[in-house]
Amino acid sequence: MASKKGNLSINSENMFPIIKKWLYSDHDIFYREVISNACDAITKIRKMDMMGEYELPADFKPRVDVILNDKDKTIKIVDNGIGMTAEEVEEYINQVAFSGATDFLNKYKDKANADQIIGHFGLGFYSTFMVSDSVDIDTLSYKSDAASVHWTCDGGSDFEMTDGDKKEVGTTITLHLSDDCLEFCNEYKAREVVQKYCSFMPYEIYLSRENEQDTETIKASEKLDSDIVIEEVHPEKKEGEEKEPELEYKIKRRPQLLNDTHPLWGKTPKDCTDEEYLEFYRKVFRDYKEPLFWIHLNMDYPFNLKGILYFPKINMEFESIEGTIKLYNNQVFIADNIKEVIPEYLMLLKGVIDCPDLPLNVSRSALQNDGFVKKISEYISKKVAEKLAGLCKTDKENYDKYWDDISPFIKYGCLRDDKFCEKMNDYILFKNLDGKYLTLPDALQINKEAEAEAAKAVDEDGNAVEAEVVDDGAKAGDSKDSEEKEPRTIYYVTDEQQQSQYIKMFKAQKMEAFIMNHNIDTPFMQQLENKNEGIRFQRIDADLTDTFKSRTSKKVAAELEEKEKELGEKIKKALKNDKLNIKLEKLKDKKMASMLTVSEDSRRMADMMKMYAMNGMSMGDFGNEGQTLVLNANHPLVQYVMDNKDAENTTMICEQLYDLARIQNAPLEGDAMAAFVARSNDIMMALAK
Ligand code: ADP
Repeated sequence: MASKKGNLSINSENMFPIIKKWLYSDHDIFYREVISNACDAITKIRKMDMMGEYELPADFKPRVDVILNDKDKTIKIVDNGIGMTAEEVEEYINQVAFSGATDFLNKYKDKANADQIIGHFGLGFYSTFMVSDSVDIDTLSYKSDAASVHWTCDGGSDFEMTDGDKKEVGTTITLHLSDDCLEFCNEYKAREVVQKYCSFMPYEIYLSRENEQDTETIKASEKLDSDIVIEEVHPEKKEGEEKEPELEYKIKRRPQLLNDTHPLWGKTPKDCTDEEYLEFYRKVFRDYKEPLFWIHLNMDYPFNLKGILYFPKINMEFESIEGTIKLYNNQVFIADNIKEVIPEYLMLLKGVIDCPDLPLNVSRSALQNDGFVKKISEYISKKVAEKLAGLCKTDKENYDKYWDDISPFIKYGCLRDDKFCEKMNDYILFKNLDGKYLTLPDALQINKEAEAEAAKAVDEDGNAVEAEVVDDGAKAGDSKDSEEKEPRTIYYVTDEQQQSQYIKMFKAQKMEAFIMNHNIDTPFMQQLENKNEGIRFQRIDADLTDTFKSRTSKKVAAELEEKEKELGEKIKKALKNDKLNIKLEKLKDKKMASMLTVSEDSRRMADMMKMYAMNGMSMGDFGNEGQTLVLNANHPLVQYVMDNKDAENTTMICEQLYDLARIQNAPLEGDAMAAFVARSNDIMMALAK
């Protein structure tokens, strides 16, 4: 072939500055592009062999070599793939399939990132110019009549193509690095970058140094045919040893294998051992804390998707909970955390997903609207829900153990994804005050017995009371039908210290409550209420359930109502607070004089308002809305107030009852605290007289 000079038919005078400028931040990507071209070339020659169009030598071992030379400032990437004829170089390299630099410029000026440009325009090979002053291609095609080709280009608009001297079929790409990119022929840097992108590429990738006489010494029995021997070494016989020591060789350091051509995700799950999963996790994520468990995704139809998702142990206090999902396309690393493909809430996990069918050469916004991509995301979500449900059904003991760690992400998942929420509904756990974990269906049943007990038609002295009064609060077990539709309440605790008074009461009545103390629990409970008709979550101090009240006859109930009205007026006046609700109840716990409840709705609303307030909105005095002061008609102090509404000390007693009820809920602040202390002292003074 006569030497050919020419102009690259893409408008390269525009191209190279674009590549250099825009792709700058990610310029290590050239390693991925050139090595994956090399792997593609190997795949192609094996296909030719399989189709009978070419016969590979019997001892053919597909491989890619990355050869560094820091003296000459070069990187060579050598493959034994299909090679290219002169015509192919002309077609694939010189006339790049490209819609024109002007078009490109206009379209992608602001929005493109390196990945998209490279993928979209088949610029893989040209990414080498981000780091090189010039690039050579030496290639010999597998075709029987092909001659080898040498191509070189200095990154301007001119290239030169001449006959080459390559003897073996395959391609060598030589990068003559620019002075500001010499780091890429540093061994450690090269290894780091190649392992970032190519750790699981399908053919072996070896790293070596060309100019350095790096040596290693091996035993004669370990020598391979491919070793380059520098000298024989005859170790000296040690004193006392009988046998002659084994002959050794000083050899040129062997190329180091950088990748794993059969990543674990490609294997059949039943052939993988726990140790393999753990080792893979450590290797890929460099996380030496063991994951809790994992899910191996393996699907061929209707699309091809394989992967392993690990549930890491989350230490919420000290670490942010952010995982990494690495996305691969046919074992070529694409990117971390592509949220269009992986459901957002799964980003808390760590894992790998390989999906060869993904249309990755399109922009992210196109991915977002791609039905296929949505299906992938749904499939992953479904599999995760199935795995968790399975674990809950078959290995509840371990599921309990994992729950605290995995619950934030499951709850987050339920909020973000309705289908996931439906699938997980019965496998969400609730931790009771003794640290036992119950599923939602179990949590709904748990207080039935205590409620039925409380509803028994006897009053506090054990006398039978009239059925009609009992009925309005009672939930004694009826037929199955009505049981299913019956609204059920789940009681919860957000702060065991603060709500300890109520917890004590609950325990005394053998009632159960569950701990819901995570930020996510408030919206999560709301979500469950929306999804499950008749379920209601109520904080333990939101209202007094019938369980805590003595049953009364109709007559007594009417009397109480009457007194409640009178007392209410008196107390509101004493406290100068007409927003407060007053309730008079006969409580089973006779030692408790007064307590405060804040209705669930008002409290949730107040929580929301607090959130707004944090965003700078005014809350007004909304915080006091929905408070009810419950007075125990069974307590002598309350009885005293009822009987002596106008006595000298009644106002003070009312104030004190209210404050005592308040401090069971939350500490008093500022003036309220000062008034409480002063009043308490006055009361004690009266005792001391
Ligand atoms: P893409 O890989 O996206 O097609 P590239 O610019 O990376 O774009 O490569 C263009 C073409 O050049 C490839 O499609 C392939 O036909 C050819 N090519 C590149 N590298 C090699 C190689 N190492 N061996 C054989 N052919 C190659």
